[in-house]
Amino acid sequence: SQARPWVACFGEALIDFLAEPPGADGTPRRFAEYAGGAPANVAAAVARLGGRARFVGMLGTDMFGDFLFDALAGMGVDTRDIVRTDAAPTALAFVSLDADGERSFSFRRPPAADLLFRESDLRADAFDDVAVLHVCSNSLTESGIAAATLAAMRRARAAGARVSMDVNLRPSLWPAGSDPAPRVWAALDEAEIVKLCDGEACFLRHSLHDDDASEAALLERLWQGRAQLVLVTDGARPLRWFTRQARGEVSAFRVRAVDTTAAGDAFMGGLLHAFARQELDLGALLETPASIQALVRSGAACGALATTRHGAFAAMPGADALNELLQR
Ligand code: ADP
Repeated sequence: SQARPWVACFGEALIDFLAEPPGADGTPRRFAEYAGGAPANVAAAVARLGGRARFVGMLGTDMFGDFLFDALAGMGVDTRDIVRTDAAPTALAFVSLDADGERSFSFRRPPAADLLFRESDLRADAFDDVAVLHVCSNSLTESGIAAATLAAMRRARAAGARVSMDVNLRPSLWPAGSDPAPRVWAALDEAEIVKLCDGEACFLRHSLHDDDASEAALLERLWQGRAQLVLVTDGARPLRWFTRQARGEVSAFRVRAVDTTAAGDAFMGGLLHAFARQELDLGALLETPASIQALVRSGAACGALATTRHGAFAAMPGADALNELLQR
């Protein structure tokens, strides 16, 4: 069988402009720029660990697109499948921290270049050497990019890759008054590995229109699609994983967290890298809880390490740091 060392990450790439507080000496507020977008972060995490990561998506031909392209390439992410367009600018997000350190986002999007990617922009051999394709809901917010996301998921599967999805729901990105649930479910039904945070699990339970939709009902609904491994993370609290036959918990590694930005993306990067690197067979893997537990621990360690440094790309740990934490 063909070697499949690549993790492909599809869709959203943007620049976060993080508001820094005004200086005590009266210097005005400044904004620091960070490459981001959930799938771009996952690709950066995999590459930083030494894995083969490819970003598939569209960037503007503007200087912000250049910045993101160079940032991805600088992390060692393969840029072969990045398409550039002058039809829309690269997406920007402005991020401020409230008194509790919670982030609030203001997006300059749409129109944005990453939303203009279409199925016809996918290379014919895009997924031939790919172990797993990773997507997130931020590329479902408009019908054109949603169709391209679903097409990528189906083509990846047809080419023999596994498909992973982080629900990563940001209601502020969706058109006012729209209900994300139908498109999110359409994509979830194509994903074999599904990651949710606690709040997203709650949203999806309510979307079932079942008065007391329980977690069991949510899992039942997920098993009706292609889902085989469901991961529910909750920051520093234990994360829970589910398969049709088994379930387990992985405690967070104890670290000194300074910035939880992109912890979830680092978690997925660590998990997908472990999966792709060992050329694991998902079906076989899922039959042994101990191997699921080991895979998920790799993700949790990567997520924990990412919280010990500021930023997203810059916070992603290397293989040595990861192995050291895993052996602790
Ligand atoms: P998201 O960024 O998607 O909300 P989480 O914050 O739940 O994701 O983080 C994903 C995983 O990263 C967690 O399940 C945990 O293993 C690890 N992690 C996140 N925050 C911390 C923390 N403060 N300390 C240790 N590990 C953490």
